[in-house]
Amino acid sequence: LKNKKITKDKGTRATVENVLDQRTLKFVNKLIYAGVIQQLNGCLSTGKEANVYHAFEGDLLQPDVSLKKQYAVKIYKTSILIFKDRERYINGEFRFRNNKSQHNPRKLIKIWAEKEFRNLKRIYSHPFILCPKPIDIKNNVLVMEFLGDYNTDATTQPALKLKDYDGYESLDDVYAMYYKVIAYIRILYRVCRLVHADLSEYNTLVFEDDLYMIDVSQSVEPEHPMSLDFLRMDIKNINLFFRKKFRNLVLFNERDIFQFVITENIDENLEPELIKNRNRDEYLKFLMDYIPKNIGQKLTIDDVEQDKVYRNLYLVRDLNGLEEKDFDRFTDGKFDLLKQLLASHNKKYAGKKIKTYNIDDDDNDNDEEDDDDDLQVEEDS
Ligand code: ADP
Ligand code: MG
Repeated sequence: LKNKKITKDKGTRATVENVLDQRTLKFVNKLIYAGVIQQLNGCLSTGKEANVYHAFEGDLLQPDVSLKKQYAVKIYKTSILIFKDRERYINGEFRFRNNKSQHNPRKLIKIWAEKEFRNLKRIYSHPFILCPKPIDIKNNVLVMEFLGDYNTDATTQPALKLKDYDGYESLDDVYAMYYKVIAYIRILYRVCRLVHADLSEYNTLVFEDDLYMIDVSQSVEPEHPMSLDFLRMDIKNINLFFRKKFRNLVLFNERDIFQFVITENIDENLEPELIKNRNRDEYLKFLMDYIPKNIGQKLTIDDVEQDKVYRNLYLVRDLNGLEEKDFDRFTDGKFDLLKQLLASHNKKYAGKKIKTYNIDDDDNDNDEEDDDDDLQVEEDS
């Protein structure tokens, strides 16, 4: 990995497409010196916001590569434009309130990477949703467990995205996957207290025949004023994917999925018990039995119409409460449960303060690296 531009000025910091800037290389090297990773191997993905590389664990006492742990190293890019677009995910989130660093792009990607790391840790700390194990983070460089088999020849098999996975043996298998995705959305909200906010067939991987959730940097807590809007979007994307890929699947009403996700307990006694027991198979089985029996299918014109209405509801919450005026139009009782659930979500999260995350408090960085942080990164294009 070499830098294309090496000059003494700001140019050194600019991100050249697919090449790491000096500053990022410094953080990669820190991870190498600390014995976390060995080096960066092949690039697994180049995205708009981040590149993902493969790396072996840095433990020198394990010279046998085939026995080494494998990591995915996600490196957030340092260009400004992209992060402008993402500000809305951070704005309004209590964890990131009052944060002056928000407008410094380099600080912002650091917050961004840190946010993904924290969200991964939170998801990983519960046994129900599979995700890569978070390993370490240095500024904009995040190390997590690699899902797949990496080889230096052409036989590398990274986990497939849900989009590309075709290991279904029957339509039942497809339904099981659909139910599992929906169960994950609920577990994420109910147990991990997060809304993914970019859930799709690209951000879910299938590894060893099970489903993994990835790419959680933009995930928000239910307190976020737009959390329900993001949730609605996640549900829509998932339905859209299953409709596109499996034409003969009968889908659920999005409104019903949404209601299912934000219901506090779908069984007052059993569900809290299952969560407490921390037995993944048991809890998943409970949810996946419940889903087809209780979530309405989109079968009639009326079902489709209801989804249309639901999609147009104004769900963005201000700090005092959810805008409920739209609901007044629905007097036929169909939206009563939804109204009730939104009210209880709102009551639960309105104005609730949680610990404010202060970027300067953490130990991933030191003054030496950040003393010139008020410099602005120039756009590369
Ligand atoms: P982006 O922000 O670029 O979408 P993602 O976190 O979604 O970043 O990662 C991009 C791609 O990199 C994924 O679709 C997946 O193919 C691969 N990838 C990411 N994390 C891992 C991992 N832990 N193990 C294997 N592949 C991964
Ligand atoms: Mg992604």
